[in-house]
Amino acid sequence: MTELRAGVDIGGTKTLVVVCDEDGRELGSASAPSEAHRGGAAILDRAAELVSSLVPDHAALAGVGVGAAGVVDPVTGTVLVTGDSFSGWAGTPVNAELSVRLGGVPVRTVNDVDGFLLGELLPGERNVLGVAVGTGVGGALFVDGRLLYGGATGAGEIGHIGRYGEERCTCGQIGHLEAYAAGRALARRYAEATGRTLTAEAVAAEALAGDQAAQAVFTEAGRFLGEAVADAAGLLGIATCVLGGSVVKSWALLEKPVREALEERPLLSGKPVSVRLSRHGAKSVALGAAGLTAGIHRLPDVSNP
Ligand SMILES: [Zn+2]
Repeated sequence: MTELRAGVDIGGTKTLVVVCDEDGRELGSASAPSEAHRGGAAILDRAAELVSSLVPDHAALAGVGVGAAGVVDPVTGTVLVTGDSFSGWAGTPVNAELSVRLGGVPVRTVNDVDGFLLGELLPGERNVLGVAVGTGVGGALFVDGRLLYGGATGAGEIGHIGRYGEERCTCGQIGHLEAYAAGRALARRYAEATGRTLTAEAVAAEALAGDQAAQAVFTEAGRFLGEAVADAAGLLGIATCVLGGSVVKSWALLEKPVREALEERPLLSGKPVSVRLSRHGAKSVALGAAGLTAGIHRLPDVSNP
């Protein structure tokens, strides 16, 4: 019998599950609202229901991987810190509690941007930076062939570094990348410039239609994103970056300033960081998480942390 693996992407609005065969080929998917405000037990009930809808016989599952929003303890899968769309989620020991709901199948959990990066790795890649630009700006680091987890605040938080100006960030500090490049930052910057309150998507549409104020906020976001990627990549010796998230759908507006910033800040090799866009879109996190228990990615040995 083929051994199945499920990947679960638990986001602030939606939970998405994919089921893959042992070679990582996707066999099916299902999604439903996360109801992230209802607390950890309800969120995991929903995730387990989705997995069960795709694989009713839990004995067929070799493992389940989870990509969860927030800072995640890589050994226990406990969510340590979450964003404001979740209630009662921090402190949830995801590995143990989801395993119980699925008949004891092994569960491993990583941060959702870590899952995104794992889902986007190409065969043989050992050093890649992942950046997800959506409601916020998250980052993940795959270095020397493994994820970097970091300490209490998690590694790779590229959204919360730098001082690009005087805008207040969602974290309370001043001038971080997230205060310029996140979707809600683009909307806020445009409103500041024009007095018009639009979603980031609508600002992008205005920019494509020739609105110079809209173009300016995307140009600024792209420039700072490129600068942050160049700095992070240079420090860690990473020559490749994968970009994803809803804001990156407006790549036509971001590409030029991102590439200019990278070309102005080449690595010591003399070459700029190579940037590519997500291949799997909304399924990256779940596909990456499905691989967590397949032995494809080297993770800490949970029996001997
Ligand atoms: Zn910040």
